[in-house]
Amino acid sequence: MASVLPYDKDPMGAAIMDFLQKGKAGKLRVLSSMFDDDEMPVKHLFRKFKDMPMLERKALEMAHGRILDVGAGAGCHALELQSEGKTVKAIDISPLSCEAMRLRGVKDVECINLMDNRLAEEYNTILLLMNGTGIAGKAERLPSLLGRLRQLLAPDGQILIDSSNLKYVYEDEDGSFDIDADGSYYGKVDYQMVYGKIKGEPFDWLYADFTLLASAAASCGLKAELVAEGEHYDYLARIQQV
Ligand code: SAH
Repeated sequence: MASVLPYDKDPMGAAIMDFLQKGKAGKLRVLSSMFDDDEMPVKHLFRKFKDMPMLERKALEMAHGRILDVGAGAGCHALELQSEGKTVKAIDISPLSCEAMRLRGVKDVECINLMDNRLAEEYNTILLLMNGTGIAGKAERLPSLLGRLRQLLAPDGQILIDSSNLKYVYEDEDGSFDIDADGSYYGKVDYQMVYGKIKGEPFDWLYADFTLLASAAASCGLKAELVAEGEHYDYLARIQQV
């Protein structure tokens, strides 16, 4: 669980590296048993401050002190924070993403899993952006994700995390909801990323609505506050010690 990806199963990292080195990348495919095949625009992972969604810009403005960017990807947020003179450490389980971040000039990069106990310092701000609750995988694991983040949080620190309420996906035209009652939370999806011949392992990814996030936070001695809502059922939350 607390490991990093092997190089030959790191499709997103390979796409990021291609984009960095060649200025373009092939198709980064996103497969799911629940949706039609999709594609992730690799360019989006290289977005600049002005192209970021309002919720991300807000999170960057609120970030202060020692900052940890969890699942930093191509480093777009870390680079922006650095350019503002802020102190940020970027971590990711994708070895190629980490190499790309170093090449792009992110000063403090570590290829490590958030759940790895060797990561042990305290941070004033922990950022998890572009659906940060995803890392939990399933609703049942949200308390353990938050409990882990709490260990890394300075006493007056804040976790800034975004997600979406996937309820709209299941909304019928008449406004009623058609949610599978198989017992699992409707915001859990499964994904598999593929880039050319590089196939990642399938993984679970959680979209948590704010109520679910807030109750998981409360179960860990944390309190969650809704900072802002986006235009499409998305939101930014701030979580702090009670
Ligand atoms: N934050 C970036 C990338 C989001 S994609 C952006 O907004 O552009 C999610 C990232 O989280 C991926 O790069 C993935 O490799 C990383 N990730 C997933 N699980 C992780 C974990 N347990 N620890 C650290 N990084 C993780």
